[in-house]
Amino acid sequence: MSPAIVLPPQVLDCMNALEDRGFAAYAVGGCVRDALRGAVPQDYDLCTAASPEAMKAIFAGRGLVLAGEKHGTVGVVTADGVVEITAFRAEAAYSDHRHPDSVRFVADPSADLARRDFTVNAMAYSPRRGLLDPFGGREDLEHKRLRAVGDPAARFQEDALRILRGVRFSASLGLEPEEKTLSAMLALRGLLDALARERVFQELDRALPALGLEDLLRFGPILAAVIPELEATFDFDQRSPHHAYSLYEHIARVTAALPGDPALRWAGLLHDTGKPPAFRADENGRGHFPGHAALGAQIAEGVLTRLRAPAALRERVCLLIREHMTPLPPDKKILRRRLGRFGEEAVRQLLALQRADFAGKGTPEARDLSAFDAVEALLRQIEGEDRCFTLKDLRINGNDLISLGFSPGPGLGRTLDALLNLVQDEALENSRGALLAQAEKMRPKEECPWPKS
Ligand code: ATP
Ligand code: MG
Repeated sequence: MSPAIVLPPQVLDCMNALEDRGFAAYAVGGCVRDALRGAVPQDYDLCTAASPEAMKAIFAGRGLVLAGEKHGTVGVVTADGVVEITAFRAEAAYSDHRHPDSVRFVADPSADLARRDFTVNAMAYSPRRGLLDPFGGREDLEHKRLRAVGDPAARFQEDALRILRGVRFSASLGLEPEEKTLSAMLALRGLLDALARERVFQELDRALPALGLEDLLRFGPILAAVIPELEATFDFDQRSPHHAYSLYEHIARVTAALPGDPALRWAGLLHDTGKPPAFRADENGRGHFPGHAALGAQIAEGVLTRLRAPAALRERVCLLIREHMTPLPPDKKILRRRLGRFGEEAVRQLLALQRADFAGKGTPEARDLSAFDAVEALLRQIEGEDRCFTLKDLRINGNDLISLGFSPGPGLGRTLDALLNLVQDEALENSRGALLAQAEKMRPKEECPWPKS
């Protein structure tokens, strides 16, 4: 029985315009998959028997986006965004493991579905024509299976990006990769080297927030194929009574336990990459990792630069890794300093990373996370108070000090820092009166511009 998939009016409108001129038209790919699993599709792609030329004639009165015309795609501007319509097409050989050498337009929608990556993505639907599902995508979706369309090895050889898409769809849709699909993904991971690094980053960045522990373990070798810096963490025995797991399993547990915030997930994945190079065994054979946080930050910087990650993400991830051993104790004074130094968002992320890192040790004592709850409660309390974390929050500024008789220069900056510390330590109220009175006491005598009476 055909499912009742509800398509939005602007999509139906485009489909009807094509059908009225005798061209079959379907919604296809991700939107059909998402509608069938009861999720709201992010966008709707259509496919049709009409050629790009025919589409341009049919939608002549509308705004058109023709950037993808060569590949058979015409974008129709509607009140609810652009609907992308692609002519049914089949693809010739792929010699660069990413792009087909040529495409040709075909009349058979099943041929179009055959070029798609996974069965769950290879379904088309039209209210008039029903569900087109030649590869059993609906059943795979119901049984939570990830299966390549056709011969998995051939499909990943054509386009290696599909391996990373497979990781993403498996994790985000909770699909278990079918055996042949999984073994081809793993066996052909070396082809990922040929991909543009931006594309690798985009896929990984989308996959990471969804990865659970099992995904991280199962797909570890694929992640290491694009991040070779992870390789040394596999089967790495930390030789520490504080750690129950090997290093990569610890990394996987930490990453999986983190909220789905990409910066945090990247930090989790890379936070201990500094451990193998920092490893020192003491006289009892126990492992120590001096400086591994700073080393890990350097390694992460290299990874994210190579993958062309946005600078803001790279900087945040490096900060989190560099500081992941910096204590966040249940002490308001110290927390205020940390908030001033790193910013509120980074302190929250750091706490989340440290919590996951601690729990990920896997030892009996690592079950008690109450210390992290206490710091979290204190952070909430501080945020509810009259906050004063940085010089910007101080109720006076450099000009006020100059009016008091201070000379501009480094001494003035030091005085402001000292005042901020006093306020953070609750030794001084953050009010103009109290700050000016304290500053007056701190004014160097020789800076007094007028003779004292
Ligand atoms: P989402 O948009 O949620 O990431 P999606 O399935 O819509 O998922 P898109 O990248 O928008 O993914 O691609 C739309 C459709 O095009 C897919 O559903 C799939 O059928 C096909 N497709 C996309 N990329 C590939 C690829 N690399 N190889 C084969 N088919 C692909
Ligand atoms: Mg999509």
